[in-house]
Amino acid sequence: MSIEPLDLDASPKAYVALHDALDEPAADAALTERELEVRAVARNVVSREVAPRAAGLDEAEDFAHDSVQALASAGLMGLVFPERLGGTDDTNVAYAVAMEEITAGCAATSLVFMTQMHAAYPILIAGSDQLAERYVPGLVGGSTYGSLGITEPQAGSDVASLRTTARPTGDGYLLNGSKTFITTGDRAGVIICFATTDRSLGRRGITAFVVDGSWEGVTHGRPFAKLGMHGSSTAELFFDGVWIPADHLLGDEGGGWQVVMSSVVKSRISAAAQGVGLARAAYARTLAFLTRQHGARLPDEQTFVLAELRGRILQGRLLLHAVARQVDSSTDIPTGQIGMMKQACTDLGFSTAVAATRLLGPYGDLAVLGVERCLRDAKVTQIYDGTNEIQRLLIGRETTRAMGELS
Ligand SMILES: Cc1cc2nc3c(=O)[nH]c(=O)nc-3n(C[C@H](O)[C@H](O)[C@H](O)COP(=O)(O)OP(=O)(O)OC[C@H]3O[C@@H](n4cnc5c(N)ncnc54)[C@H](O)[C@@H]3O)c2cc1C
Repeated sequence: MSIEPLDLDASPKAYVALHDALDEPAADAALTERELEVRAVARNVVSREVAPRAAGLDEAEDFAHDSVQALASAGLMGLVFPERLGGTDDTNVAYAVAMEEITAGCAATSLVFMTQMHAAYPILIAGSDQLAERYVPGLVGGSTYGSLGITEPQAGSDVASLRTTARPTGDGYLLNGSKTFITTGDRAGVIICFATTDRSLGRRGITAFVVDGSWEGVTHGRPFAKLGMHGSSTAELFFDGVWIPADHLLGDEGGGWQVVMSSVVKSRISAAAQGVGLARAAYARTLAFLTRQHGARLPDEQTFVLAELRGRILQGRLLLHAVARQVDSSTDIPTGQIGMMKQACTDLGFSTAVAATRLLGPYGDLAVLGVERCLRDAKVTQIYDGTNEIQRLLIGRETTRAMGELS
């Protein structure tokens, strides 16, 4: 018995029609006209250029180059960057909406897409005008790939214990060490690298640099084989006596922690939007298959589960938009707000994919329906950008601190 692909995989028109039908007025009511326009542009390009490639990239473990280039050509990669650097000066809500759309079509493509932003953003907030003009347009235009290099074999959750060193020389720094689990690390032309200028200072010694991937002494490992997100690459980076000119410093020497903290606000919006996008993808695929099998009147037990999932996805989307809106209007967002968004939305992505797989029974296991891909892709969103255990720790500490201040 062969299972036919879903209509949404067979035609961009069917893809758009189904996702249009799943829009929720309660969430849309708070979006501006421009944010709705960004969603329409993203949905359109995803339906034609991104979603149709997703299963093939996953199966062949091919890098999502063509999909990412299509998003850049549609003007989506510079959403939160100023026009002078090739961006469109849009809101973080517009970015979250676009990320949800891209993820719903191909999560691996969304991982490469968001990493371009994660590499460009520290340059925007902490680099000189010259650095920004030199590196940001290539990242948001898609002509250069970027990576954000924080994690090391002994330092991920505990960033302050990183061991890569940047030793000051007369007119620059000598960089030695390695990074691991770096998205797009195997092809990065621009690397935002965090290193310590003085390990005895802990987090006060962490310093951020722009490292050109073509410089002598920069090498990378082979991309890791992974559970999901096969259309993205994850690799080690090695720095062997790399000379960094002083003008490639981001912020002050010892000011890298502040750059990390400002950057994770954005990267956690990305991960949270992936969670909502993956939940939507798993839900849409399940709904499409079950209604193909049973028609519009599904057995009650399936209707109950679908209703529950729909409500939870709406809640996740509302939380995502609310926190992104807060980030648009203030630079001082309590850690717990960001943490609750990241943890709740990425847990939503994984739990929805699990529930959808269960609802489909043996069909949930079939690659042709794409729900098993959602399940594999969703797992890592709970791990990167600060694991969900770390988010709970941050949320809990903020809560108990607030109670302590009351007493
Ligand atoms: C596909 C992929 C892409 C990635 N991309 C990037 C990238 O582009 N750039 C980058 O810098 N990094 C990247 N990472 C790394 C990722 O951000 C880290 O792996 C993650 O932050 C966890 O850090 P760690 O590896 O040190 O794990 P650990 O901190 O060793 O965590 C191991 C386990 O212990 C738990 N744990 C740790 N501390 C505590 C605690 N205090 N209380 C309770 N539980 C705790 C964690 O939640 C986790 O379950 C990527 C990882 C993956 C898998």
